Amino acid sequence: MSEGFIRFVRELYDEPSAPIPLHAPVMGDLEKQRVNEAIDSTFVSSVGAFVTQFEQDVARFVGAKYAVATVNGTAALHAALLVAGVQPGDRVLTQSLSFIATCNAIHYARAEPVFVDVAADTLGMDPRALRDWLERHAEVRSDGHAYGRTDGCRIRACVPMHTLGHPTRIAAIAAICAEFGLVLIEDAAESLGSFVGERHTGTFGRLGVFSFNGNKVVTTGGGGMIVTDDEDLAIRAKHLTTTAKKPHLWAFEHDEVGFNYRLPNLNAAFGVAQMDRLPDLLASKRSVAEAYRQWSDATGWDFVTEPRAADHEARSNYWLNALRLADEAARDDFLAETNRAGVMTRPLWTPMHRLPMYAACPRGALPVTEQLAATVVNVPSSARGDGLA
Ligand SMILES: *Cc1c(COP(=O)(O)O)cnc(C)c1O
Repeated sequence: MSEGFIRFVRELYDEPSAPIPLHAPVMGDLEKQRVNEAIDSTFVSSVGAFVTQFEQDVARFVGAKYAVATVNGTAALHAALLVAGVQPGDRVLTQSLSFIATCNAIHYARAEPVFVDVAADTLGMDPRALRDWLERHAEVRSDGHAYGRTDGCRIRACVPMHTLGHPTRIAAIAAICAEFGLVLIEDAAESLGSFVGERHTGTFGRLGVFSFNGNKVVTTGGGGMIVTDDEDLAIRAKHLTTTAKKPHLWAFEHDEVGFNYRLPNLNAAFGVAQMDRLPDLLASKRSVAEAYRQWSDATGWDFVTEPRAADHEARSNYWLNALRLADEAARDDFLAETNRAGVMTRPLWTPMHRLPMYAACPRGALPVTEQLAATVVNVPSSARGDGLA
């Protein structure tokens, strides 16, 4: 069943026999130069000019006023939730169909996730499911916050995720968050280079979060970023992620329990080089996605394109390309055949509400989450490195 697919992918990457990874980083002389500069400067750790430059590069690219670099995307999410005012016992709306980092960060903030369904075309949080859950379960009190009608728990924030890089209906979600007094934090870990209209994902909420893990569109080895237009939140995020140390020429004074979440200068140097590559990487990834789309159209496979709806002008970075299979059995056959042939494919994540740690969390009906989790597979998606500096 999968031979045609395997042949197509081997041709796409011009790789007749070696294993083909799901997503490999593209790196070379640019990265070596920057990392060498960091070594020569002797600033390889938590102090150094590359961190600031990397923050500025990302802020400029996404169109945010401020950016704060962190050791990874999970740490960025955790710090973003804390500076957003999420407190122990609060609830945070999110999607069950996500990488575990989203949920774990909510848990680290000692809040409880609430799962709402995703939309079949965006794979991200469905604003109709969000509104439905809030209308059934929440009331906005005179302090402007939403509370659970029966349990009285404060519902503080909403963390939608731009799944596989495809922009979710973030403008509609932002309007619902405003109506219910929720802080919107975008998990844009997968969507650097994805836009809704002219606006970059991660800049619709009060805070947005990116990841620079090795498998993301650009990498710093490991790393993350918080972006915001709110100066106070940016200052708070920087403070909290740098051990909450009060600025002083020599004294160590800390005014709260902070975190050692700052991105090392060595990783930031790598990231500066990757940001220089980003336009080329995005163009290459788009050409890979276009090749999948044409092949799927010609052969009857069901390729997941960027959302194309009248109400949602989305441009995806096509971080991970995906196919929809007929059912779970067809999906499992496909995974077995392709991985055995050295073409790496993966199912989506087990939905969070089916993991033991999060099974008891409140949730709405999740039929689309269940359907996508059982049928969607990710296929090799690396940018093609040839011709890149
Ligand atoms: C990659 C990713 C993160 C962050 O992961 P880190 O490995 O901590 O950088 C968060 N959320 C989602 C949805 C992700 O895919």
